[in-house]
Amino acid sequence: MIPGEEIRKKADQYRDYTVANLARLVQTRSYSGQEKEAAELTEQLLREAGVTDLRIDGLGNVIARVGTGEKILAIDGHIDTVEVGDPAQWQRDPFCGTVEGDYLHGRGASDQKGGVASMITAARILQEMNYDGEYSVVFTFTVMEEDCDGLCWRYLIEKENLKPDFAVSTEPTSLGLYRGQRGRMEMELFFTGVSAHGSAPERGVNAAYKAARAAVAIGEFNERLEPDRDRFLGKGTVVVSQVHAHGPSQCAVPDQARLYLDRRLTWGETMESAIAEIQDLCGEDLKEVRVPEYTRPSWKGTVHAQELYFPTWKTPENHRIVQAGVHAWEALYGEKPRVDKWTFSTNGVAIAGYHEVPCIGLGPGDEDQAHAPNERIRISDLPRAAAFYATLPWVLNEG
Ligand SMILES: [Zn+2]
Repeated sequence: MIPGEEIRKKADQYRDYTVANLARLVQTRSYSGQEKEAAELTEQLLREAGVTDLRIDGLGNVIARVGTGEKILAIDGHIDTVEVGDPAQWQRDPFCGTVEGDYLHGRGASDQKGGVASMITAARILQEMNYDGEYSVVFTFTVMEEDCDGLCWRYLIEKENLKPDFAVSTEPTSLGLYRGQRGRMEMELFFTGVSAHGSAPERGVNAAYKAARAAVAIGEFNERLEPDRDRFLGKGTVVVSQVHAHGPSQCAVPDQARLYLDRRLTWGETMESAIAEIQDLCGEDLKEVRVPEYTRPSWKGTVHAQELYFPTWKTPENHRIVQAGVHAWEALYGEKPRVDKWTFSTNGVAIAGYHEVPCIGLGPGDEDQAHAPNERIRISDLPRAAAFYATLPWVLNEG
């Protein structure tokens, strides 16, 4: 029996509690790599919620477990945010956490401290109901997502040996049930030439011209990229995002040039295929393609280096975890959720894309609030998301 009614009532009853926790989280600045205070606050809120199996891992993620079942359902939310940008574009203090009508305002409200606050409420509900099903629920409050999506989860799986059976991302979906996103990668392309005096360019080989030919070819190639077969994720894209050329002086033929690319990957496109395409397009002109590494330390000083490749992922619509998500929503609200995908990238790139753990997403707030000035979240989304997180494990236990 799925106790949907009881969970829904509790989530509604804890609406103000969830909002108060969210306000405190928004008021605690937590840029990527600087989440110490937010991690400690999250830990404190979880303790207040009655969670006893609680720890901070070597990277700085907060991990809370409810239940003792051997199988694991992970529910993930990142506690870091992007920076504020131009403060003049904000009508309120970005860290105010002010409530007005059905909205709470501030950086991270939608992306994604609303999901985090809803997770804490779900943990409280499960704890109060003495939940102890076949699936333990491991709530992960993760770091550095905005700077290097998925790194936190590569750490959890590769270093902490936390490999769940299923995972839920609580990034904003406007309460839709999401099951995939395009992947992405970054590439650096290097071109070399032969320098010569600028007064006699015919004596040299201009690396800037090689890079320019490549940039034009890449722009045209972007127009030819095809969508995935079922058109769920849509087309990949490629953009030349930086151009550099230099030589011995500004009065010389440049002998070095570099292009930086942002590549979005649809289903079937991988790091290998994307590199091969670029090599094909540029031919002899191209000296080297590199996928840069991310090496910044976490707030704990831990480095878990990885290349800037974030694999595409999707979970089939008829997959057990997608269907469980649909049933959980139906059990609570008597209707099917909208099943869709994210435009942006999430920790799913590591959970599902890299480590192939079946993943879905459902979160309060709207994707278009992410990284925008005057970010806010609909408060009425919060109890609904919390109820969903607390209901899903019961659905999985029913098999
Ligand atoms: Zn996010």
